[in-house]
Amino acid sequence: MPLFRNAQFEISIAKPSGLPPPSGPEIAFAGRSNAGKSSAINTLAGHVRLAFVSKTPGRTQLLNFFRLNSGALLVDLPGYGYAAVPEKVRREWAGLIETYLKKRESLIGLVLIMDSRHPLTPLDRQMIDWFAVSQRPIHVLLTKSDKLSRGAAAAVLQEVRRALAPLGPQVTVQLFSSLKKSGVEEAEKVIGGWLLGDLQPVPDDSGGEADAGDACVPAEGLEQTKAPDQGT
Ligand code: GDP
Repeated sequence: MPLFRNAQFEISIAKPSGLPPPSGPEIAFAGRSNAGKSSAINTLAGHVRLAFVSKTPGRTQLLNFFRLNSGALLVDLPGYGYAAVPEKVRREWAGLIETYLKKRESLIGLVLIMDSRHPLTPLDRQMIDWFAVSQRPIHVLLTKSDKLSRGAAAAVLQEVRRALAPLGPQVTVQLFSSLKKSGVEEAEKVIGGWLLGDLQPVPDDSGGEADAGDACVPAEGLEQTKAPDQGT
C-alpha cells in the first residue's frame, strides 16, 4: 500500500514549545518556497490535496503534522527563502526549523525538496548542515525534472550526488516530477526503508487496519490546488 495514502492532518505548531510528545517516527519534508514541496507531498499522497492544509492562510509558517496509516507522521516544514517575508519572521521560522531538525528525537529522516533547476542553494545547505550531524538519512527530491531534458536532468542528478557524497551513504538523491508523477516509487522505497527500520508496532485499538482503498478525508476548508506549471 502506498506509504502516504490516507494521511490525516493532525496538528499544527508554531513554536518548539508546542511540539506534541513523540507518538511515532516522524519524516520531515522541507524545501525552499516554490520548490514544489506541496505538489510533491500531494503526489506522494495520491492526489488527496494533503499539503493544502499547509498552504491555507495562517498555516504556511507552521509545522504541520499528518498521521500516516502506518502510525508514522509526515511533518511539513515551512517553506524557506521567501524574499517578501520580514527578517524577524524569517528568523523565527529558521529558529523553529533548526530546533526541530536538531533536537527532535522521533525525527527519523528528512526529505529535502529542491527545484532541479536550482539545486543546493545556501538555505538548502543550511538544512543539510542542521540535520546531517545526527547521521540520520536525508533524501533529496529534485523536483520539476519534467522541465529539463533527459540529459540535463541526468547531469543535475550526478552533480548533486557528487556534491553531497562527502556526507556519506545516508544522503540519497533522485529526480522527481509531480507533473509527470515520476519518481514516486523510488521515493516510497527509500522513505519506506527508513520506516521499516524504525516503526514500533501500533496499538490495535482502531478495529483493524484501514482498507487500502479508503479515500483520505482532507481537512475541512481546503482550497483547490494549483495545477503544476506546464511546458517551459
Ligand atoms: P511549494 O511552495 O514548495 O509548496 O511549491 P508548490 O508545490 O506550490 O509548487 C510551486 C509551483 O511549481 C506551482 O506552480 C506548481 O504547480 C509547480 N510545480 C510543482 N511541482 C512541479 C513539477 O514537478 N513539474 C512542474 N512542471 N511544475 C511543478
